[in-house]
This record gives sequence, structure tokens and C-alpha cells, in this order.
Amino acid sequence: MTRVALAVLAHPDDAEFLCTGTLIRLAQEHGWSIHIATMTAGDCGSAELGPAEISAVRRAEGAAAAARIGAAYHCVEALDLRVYLTDDLVDRVVRLLARVRPELVLTHSPDDYHMDHELTSRVVRAATFAAPIPNFLHGRWGDLRPLDHIPHLYYCDPIEGKDLFGKPIRPAFCVDISREIGDKEEALACHVSQRAWLIKHHGMDDYLRAMRELSARQGQAAGVAYAEGFRQHLGHSYPQDNLLSKLLGGIEAR
Ligand SMILES: [Zn+2]
Repeated sequence: MTRVALAVLAHPDDAEFLCTGTLIRLAQEHGWSIHIATMTAGDCGSAELGPAEISAVRRAEGAAAAARIGAAYHCVEALDLRVYLTDDLVDRVVRLLARVRPELVLTHSPDDYHMDHELTSRVVRAATFAAPIPNFLHGRWGDLRPLDHIPHLYYCDPIEGKDLFGKPIRPAFCVDISREIGDKEEALACHVSQRAWLIKHHGMDDYLRAMRELSARQGQAAGVAYAEGFRQHLGHSYPQDNLLSKLLGGIEAR
């Protein structure tokens, strides 16, 4: 049976910053099926287009970026800057998990620069715990069925590598993506609207370079050119073996 990995991140383009190299390696080296979900369609990500218009653009960009690495794209349809730990969002992510049936799930760091990222992390944690519990959606599973067990859960490095107080957040291990960096960049380049938006809102006029710099910084911690860093959720009931590191030869960060 094909093994499945699912990344659930807040916005279209977060996967292409944080974990696309790792997803490419799971697909190419181990034949895994890859799914990328975003909590929102990025409805605040434009100064010119209204929410419905920019969402349509960004859903298409997210799907194109996922397709670029052979992945399927899903949108949980929460709203930008309004991702909260609610019954509704946990239900939706549980349904996504029940449909996709991942063995391994990637999400944001519990501490990150953006509240949507932090709340996505909480929602995904809640949903991975709930998804194997039959009574959680009692009478509401429809065609779906609960997961067989809690998937391996990993937190991507926070985008800026630090918590709210500036304290560095170190990855537990890094995945070498030096060979995948070109493909990662091409996937990120599918988010055409965001290159334009960042110039206007953040004064950051080099979208692709920002991703390369982040991956290079993570690479430095691992002694390779480019890397992506992760921490595994090791709370009670979650799988304790480091599946991702074992599959991809994870490097302990220095
Ligand atoms: Zn984001």
C-alpha cells in the first residue's frame, strides 16, 4: 500500500518555504504519495484584489505548486488571520486526515511569527489525536472511517527560527535538501501573486532569495548546503520512533 505524507500549513506558499524539499525526497526516494493542505486560501494576501478574487488566484497557485512536485492540494477554507482552535476547524482537519490517511503529518512550529501558524499547529495537533477515535465524529463520519492510529507528527522550523521573545528555536534534526533546492524554488515560484504582495507589504522584493536564505541557514546547522529542520511531537500516544529522520538520513543539528 502506498504510504502517505500530509503537510497542513496555514497559507498557500508556507509548504514551499518550510518542507517541500523533504516532501520531494519522500516521493522520489521512497515512493510516498504527498498531500499539501493549507488552512486558508490566503484571502488577505493582496492589496488590489478582494478576498474572493485573491483566494481563487491563490488556490490555483497552491494547486500548481503542489502539482509541480507531484502532490495533491487541499484547502481547509478557514480565513486569513482568523485561524482558531475551534470545533469546526478540528472537525474539518479530522475529515481531511480520514480522507488522505497519512502515516506522517507535518505542520507549523507551536511557536512562530504568525498566529495563523501557531493556531494551525494547535488545530493539527488536536486533529491528529482525535482522528483515530470513533466517537469523535460519532454518527458523522459518513463515508469516512477513523484513522487506524495517530500519525507521526512533525513541526517544521518556525520561519524566523525564533520564538516571540527572540529566543532561538533549534530543530531536533535536519533533512538535507541540497539536491532538491532547485525543484523547491520552482514550486515556490508558482506563487506569483505573493512575490508581488511581499514587495508591497513587507518591503521584501526577493521572495525566492528569502526561501534560499532560510534553507541555507538551516543547512548551516546541519553542515550541508540546504536543509529543512524539524521537531517531532513526542507526547503520550504519538508514535515515538523518528520515522522521518530514519527514512531521509536526518542530521542532528549542531
Ligand atoms: Zn504563512
